[in-house]
Amino acid sequence: MVDNNNRVINYLRLSVTDKCNLRCIYCMPEEGVEFMPHAEILTYEEMLVIIKLCVQKGIRKLRLTGGEPLIRKGVIDFIKKVSQLDGLQEVTLTTNGVYLKEFAQSLRESGIFRINVSMDTLRPDRFFNITRRDVFDRVWAGIEEAESAGLSPIKINIVIMRGVNDDEILDFARLTYRKPYHVRFIELMPVGDPYRWTPDRFLSAKEVFDKISTLGTIMPVSPDPLDGPARRFALEGSKGEIGLIGALSYHFCENCNRLRLTADGKLRGCLFSDSETDIKEPLRNGANEQYMLKLIEETIQNKPRSHGQAAWQPRKCSRSMNGIGG
Ligand code: SAM
Repeated sequence: MVDNNNRVINYLRLSVTDKCNLRCIYCMPEEGVEFMPHAEILTYEEMLVIIKLCVQKGIRKLRLTGGEPLIRKGVIDFIKKVSQLDGLQEVTLTTNGVYLKEFAQSLRESGIFRINVSMDTLRPDRFFNITRRDVFDRVWAGIEEAESAGLSPIKINIVIMRGVNDDEILDFARLTYRKPYHVRFIELMPVGDPYRWTPDRFLSAKEVFDKISTLGTIMPVSPDPLDGPARRFALEGSKGEIGLIGALSYHFCENCNRLRLTADGKLRGCLFSDSETDIKEPLRNGANEQYMLKLIEETIQNKPRSHGQAAWQPRKCSRSMNGIGG
């Protein structure tokens, strides 16, 4: 479906749960996180109904995210059902990788062909400082297991923070010489609890690009129609790719094809806009299909033209990333 700004909306990001087994410093506080009450969380059956309706409205790609999607019980069976839905061309998953070693093979068998793994450092001690959990080896083993299971490409998402992990930009870029991974640098965004965004911690995609350019010739990679917002490049002679996601420094809003469904059943047109459509309550109250489709249609049509964020003047978004589904 086309929105009021002539964008084709074909990509749904679904937060399967707001719970997570890591406590990344830019995303959640160390303690005292309040999660959504169980009764508020969409059941898998409800999610399936909503996804099918979204497919009727033109959604072709689905990404499962969270919180951490692999900690929700029954997620593999759910993925199997989702993968069999007519009309969806692609089902993908974003994970922190903690349970990837256990699940890589069954993910592949249930219809996931490619995954994103969030890993902000290649150093075990720093991994603990960023995530507050000592599971670097598990995550790395999970990535290697995913590679053996034939998941491809494996995208590694790095939230880049000045003074925290920016000294690893070249190490991550060099990884693409050894491994066929797509290494994607994401600008720190003003979402999360506590409010971790500060101008001195922010590092722009352009700075990352300039640093990587010192390694060798960088060639652009042509985009795919179902691509996300990453600008894609490859170092000459490498096996993998580099992606830059300049969420704040350059706006990709004019090409944004996304819709989000939170774990508690709210449809959002934009990560940063607090405007949401409650889709769960009407569903639970027995609304008919036509009414539900109308709600989805209106959310798509009213998708904000731009997230209105600027690197020099960010606004805080009221929900945390794990609540929205990052
Ligand atoms: N648990 C899964 C994971 O770790 O990938 C999925 C959920 S996580 C919220 C999704 C993505 O959002 C991760 O790549 C994470 O690094 C990113 N993220 C969370 N807070 C962020 C922030 N303030 N700025 C930029 N990216 C953020």
